[in-house]
Amino acid sequence: MTTTPDNWYFADGGPDGAPAPVGGPLVIFDLDGVISDATHRQHFLRGARKDWRGFFTSAHLDPPYESGLALTASVSEDHTVAILTARPHYVGAITRSWLAANEVRHDLLIMRPRHGRGSGGPSADYKRHELGRLRAAGYEITVAIDDDERIIEMFRAEGVLAFYTHSGYYER
Ligand SMILES: [Mg+2]
Repeated sequence: MTTTPDNWYFADGGPDGAPAPVGGPLVIFDLDGVISDATHRQHFLRGARKDWRGFFTSAHLDPPYESGLALTASVSEDHTVAILTARPHYVGAITRSWLAANEVRHDLLIMRPRHGRGSGGPSADYKRHELGRLRAAGYEITVAIDDDERIIEMFRAEGVLAFYTHSGYYER
């Protein structure tokens, strides 16, 4: 890979400000329903007209899941922690502020890009594309955790060990 995708946001890389390592073992976490408790904004997606903007722009009000914080903190230090979320680019600032305020351990945040591939369409297609780019950048995906069974199926089809957690946001 010659350039870092512009929808990849590396965290500051630790107390010495060193850049995050590129390549090596990496764990993927979903954000909503795994680390961030989006229960209070599910109502934006009920009814005939889904209010996606209302849903995403109230994400700063989410409490964290203590289990999600503990999971990210438990990842071995030699692993990169990547948060791969289908949140759109326009909530990038509030998402990064939320991660900082809640001290969520992570090295890399990947969000849907503003334009082009992954900017729309099914979340599973977007996440499959980003998985391919992570692998192309030299990352070896150790495990992925998500609360959407369609994403879990995609990861497994791509040969990634994937764990499902039940948020209750999706019909089963
Ligand atoms: Mg989710």
